[in-house]
Amino acid sequence: MNPWRDLYCGAVRGEDVGRTVAVAGWVARRRDHGGLIFIDLRDYTGVVQLVVNPERAPEAAKAAHAIRSEFVVRGRGEVVNRAPDAVNPNIATGAVEIQVDELDLLARSEPLPFQLDDDGVEEPLRLRYRYLDLRRDRMQRNLRLSATVIAAIRRSMEEQGFIDVWTPTMTLGTPEGARDFLVPVRLQPGNFFALAQSPQLFKQVFMIGGLDRYYQIATCWRDEDLRADRQFEFRQLDLELAFPTREEVLDVLEQVVVASFEALGRTPPARPFPRHSYADVMLKYGSDKPDLRFGLEIQDATAVTRDSEFGVFASAPCVRYLVAPAVFSRAQLQRLEEFAKEWGAKGLAYVVVDETGEVRSPIAKFLSEQELAAFAAPPGSTVLFVADAPAMVERVLGALRTELAEQLELIDGSRDEFLWVLDFPLFLKDEETGNWTFVHHPFTSPLDGHEVLIESDPGNALSQHYDLIWNGWELGSGSIRIHRQEIQERVFRAMGMTDEEAQAKFGWFLEALQMGAPPHGGFALGIERFVALLAGEANIREIIAFPKTASGSDPLTGAPAPTTEERLSELGIRLKDAAGLRRS
Ligand code: ASP
Repeated sequence: MNPWRDLYCGAVRGEDVGRTVAVAGWVARRRDHGGLIFIDLRDYTGVVQLVVNPERAPEAAKAAHAIRSEFVVRGRGEVVNRAPDAVNPNIATGAVEIQVDELDLLARSEPLPFQLDDDGVEEPLRLRYRYLDLRRDRMQRNLRLSATVIAAIRRSMEEQGFIDVWTPTMTLGTPEGARDFLVPVRLQPGNFFALAQSPQLFKQVFMIGGLDRYYQIATCWRDEDLRADRQFEFRQLDLELAFPTREEVLDVLEQVVVASFEALGRTPPARPFPRHSYADVMLKYGSDKPDLRFGLEIQDATAVTRDSEFGVFASAPCVRYLVAPAVFSRAQLQRLEEFAKEWGAKGLAYVVVDETGEVRSPIAKFLSEQELAAFAAPPGSTVLFVADAPAMVERVLGALRTELAEQLELIDGSRDEFLWVLDFPLFLKDEETGNWTFVHHPFTSPLDGHEVLIESDPGNALSQHYDLIWNGWELGSGSIRIHRQEIQERVFRAMGMTDEEAQAKFGWFLEALQMGAPPHGGFALGIERFVALLAGEANIREIIAFPKTASGSDPLTGAPAPTTEERLSELGIRLKDAAGLRRS
């Protein structure tokens, strides 16, 4: 028997009437009705009403006078039906109450820094007192939903024959495109571990080690600027398969997504999820993570404008447009042009087709009949053009597409649109160094037949990298890997790495690739993003118990914090600016 409680607060029901039960929890509210004292007692399951009658229980009444909001209390008494006019149909326990015989005060509480039913509390205050924030419905719901989803993910992975294996946190740097967090090592001054940006190379080594199907809910660390969908540390469903086809990998993830929806009692998205090539989504949506809950597809007008009398069109390497289902005023068009310029466009040409079908446009007089016919749009719309290098056109129209969807409220919030983006380029140009660099990570295999392009035409080599997208959020990435050492070396070389550098950084891995590495591939699904979307939250901090603020600190514990001269000297480290050191 549990001495504290027989039932959870939210579980007391009509069928318990006549029983004497103990409940325990936090005081949500106390009302003194001249004699009778009513206490709403709360735990994570809900609220139950305790009634303290001084005639029935004088000791309990005395205790009840002293209690305040958020005191921790145990109450014991008989479950009775409420009077008909006191029934509260809005809560599950609303037909009953507990006539208290014993009331024990288990813990007091200082007055709270904010009221738990106040939805307008600023985030820093919520994080500073996270334990209070956690008592609220929103955080309770989100963390429990998160646990349900993670359990479903694990179940699905186990059913699919994956085994959970741990990989080290402290390791060598893993190239995932972010900075590493470094860990100094007291026993080896001057040497540092990096906190794993992902278990990427370990999971590949698992395949070489014959584990066949590995998974892990892995914590990853990346030293990046924080955003709504980014924290220094986050979790991934990390997985790897030996001898896979790409379709098999995608299928594993689709099963995980469906299992998660089902665990929450939601209708899962239809499988297989649509597959789009990178080239296709960049052309149609100007983004490699398009939101397909609305159309507004981008059209290409490069061919039809080659001989245009409008010089901007004729001379641009690429001309594309969007047809917005709205007639914009001059001022609105000006604002849209400013928006396009913020994204890097030189300008935003337009053709307005008003409700009567009449065309209004400063460039119309330069356009041939053929061009106007190609851009023909229904009455009540505006055609918006961007002419520039293809990458710039994609960028600007992609951003404009999302902006217009928001402004014109074109997004159907009831839809869930999953898709796969396939056939990414293998390399992209690093604007700073002018070198080719990886798009996903340097262990991604070229598409079959594209190996020859690694040297001859790296910009046109496609890869076996794939991304999973949900409503415009990238849920995760993966790829079929390079399993031949010779190809891996060629990819390193194409990225401007000398053989010596490659040996120094990845020699151990290149060696492993020479000792019977099977074909393999895998994926990593961002747990926080996935759970946030399932919870209907726009910020992953809402589904993380103790997140860092946007500036990268934890208001609850005060981390990160300065250390002492002594500690640093043990580690062989001297600070450039020692002003902030702690004294002891
Ligand atoms: N390591 C990759 C990442 O963290 C995922 C993968 O390729 O499996 O994004």
